[in-house]
Amino acid sequence: MKENEKSIEEINIRIADGNARVVTADEMVKIVAEMSVDEVVHEVDVVTTGTFGAMCSSGVWMNFGHSEPPMKMSRVWLNDVEAYSSVAAVDAYLGATQPSRSLGIEYGGGHVIEDLVRGRSVRLEAEGTSSDCYPLKSLSADIKLEDMNQAIMSNPRNCYERYGAATNTSDRAINTYMGRLLPSMGNATYSGAGELSPIINDPTFQTVGIGTRILLGGTEGYVIGSGTQHNPSDGFGILMVQGNLKQMSPEFLRGATLTGYGPTLYVGVGVPIPVINAEVVRSTAVADGDIVTDVYDYGIQSRDRPTLAKVTYEELKSGMIEINGTMVQTSALSSFRNALMIARRLRDLILQKKFFLTEPVELLKSEGTAYPMRQRVRNDARDPQIAVNHYSEYYVQRDETNCVHCGLCVPYCSAGVFQQNVDWTVSYEPSRCVECGECRDVCPQRAIHLRG
Ligand code: SF4
Ligand code: SF4
Repeated sequence: MKENEKSIEEINIRIADGNARVVTADEMVKIVAEMSVDEVVHEVDVVTTGTFGAMCSSGVWMNFGHSEPPMKMSRVWLNDVEAYSSVAAVDAYLGATQPSRSLGIEYGGGHVIEDLVRGRSVRLEAEGTSSDCYPLKSLSADIKLEDMNQAIMSNPRNCYERYGAATNTSDRAINTYMGRLLPSMGNATYSGAGELSPIINDPTFQTVGIGTRILLGGTEGYVIGSGTQHNPSDGFGILMVQGNLKQMSPEFLRGATLTGYGPTLYVGVGVPIPVINAEVVRSTAVADGDIVTDVYDYGIQSRDRPTLAKVTYEELKSGMIEINGTMVQTSALSSFRNALMIARRLRDLILQKKFFLTEPVELLKSEGTAYPMRQRVRNDARDPQIAVNHYSEYYVQRDETNCVHCGLCVPYCSAGVFQQNVDWTVSYEPSRCVECGECRDVCPQRAIHLRG
C-alpha cells in the first residue's frame, strides 16, 4: 500500500471503531473545494451515492414451491401479468415492463413487484405441460411474497452512469421511455441523479466490481457484474445488480407507467465509494456542472437520433436549457429527493456500523463499447453433421457435436452400444446395434439418430 492510500479493510476497521468519516456525494463536492486532494484522502473514508429512477431492465426470479399434485409451469401470470417460466418447474422471471393481459400498460410487472413488496396477495395462474412426473395442467392460487421460497431481484441493467436528454422537433407530441415530448421542442426530459449518480463517481471502476455490496430497494444487494450494454468508453457504464426482494421496501421500489410507452419500475440504488486514493477523491468530487450529456431529437424515429445540443446536469436541473437559440423547459424522470434520501440512508447505515464495505472479487471493465444490432441475414442450411448421420451405414448414429457425454443413454441399450468410460466420456460402437429403437428419445441432447 503506497503512502496516502487506504485499503477497504482499513476503512472497515475505521467504520467498526466509529472513526470513519462518511459523506454523501454532494457533500464531497464542497469538501474537495476546501481541502487538498491528499488531505481529503486522509480525512474522508466513504462517499455514498444514490439514484432513484425508472429502470426498465429490472425483474424478479421467483420460486413458488411445488403444488399438489406437482406441475411443470410452462406459462405463468401474476395478477394477469405474464412471467417467463421456461426454466425449472416452478421458477419464473417477472420483468418490470411486461404489461397486463387485461389492463394493458396501466398495470405491469413493475406494479406486481411493488404489490408483492407491500405484502399484498397476488393471483398466480399457471398452465402446465403435463407429464408423468408433473401431471397438473393448470393452477390458480393467491400467494404473497412471504409464501415464496425465493424472490430474487435480478436486474440486468441498472444505474446508468449518465443519460442522454430528450426533446422532440417534430410537429406532434410523442410518447417515449423519456416521457411525453411535446411538439416543436415544447419540453426536454432527462434522467439520472447527476453528481449523486453511483457510476459517475467511479467512472474508471477503481472500486466498483463483482461483489460490491450496495443498497438495492432499501436493503443490502450486490453488484453481480457489468450491466448489459455496458459502454464505459463512451461514458455509459452500467451495473448488473441483485438482492433479496423479501427484504426490500416499497419506499425504494415503485411500479409506474410511462404514458403511451408502457409499465416500468422505479428502483432505488445506493453505492458506497471507498476513498482509497487520490484518484477516487477526484472522481467523487464531480459536480453537476462537470457532467455533460447530449440532448437527442426523439422526433426522428431512428436509433441514430441527431444530437441537438450538449448540456450539463447543472443546466438541466436549472429547469431551462438552450437548444439552438431556443429556451426549452426541462423536467426530470428521476427523483433527486429520493436519490439524496438513499445516499443519506447509506451514509447513516455505515456510520451506525450496520453496513460494511466489501472487496470486489473482480473490478468492472473501464473500457469497452456496446454496438447497435448486427442484423445478419439468416442462413437456413441444415447442420451438415446431422444430415450425414441420417445417411450413415449404421442404423444408429450419434451426433458428436451435440453429445455432452452425460451417460443417460448407456443403460437403455441392451446391446451395449453405449459405454461410460472411467474418464466419464461415453463411447459408442454402432456396429453392435440390433435396431431395437430404444435409445433415441432418451437422449436429452437429441444427439442419437436412427435411420429410417
Ligand atoms: S444421452 Fe445423449 S448426450 Fe448423453 S451421452 Fe448419450 S448420446 Fe451423449
Ligand atoms: S437402437 Fe437399440 S440396440 Fe441400437 S443403439 Fe439404440 S438401444 Fe442400442
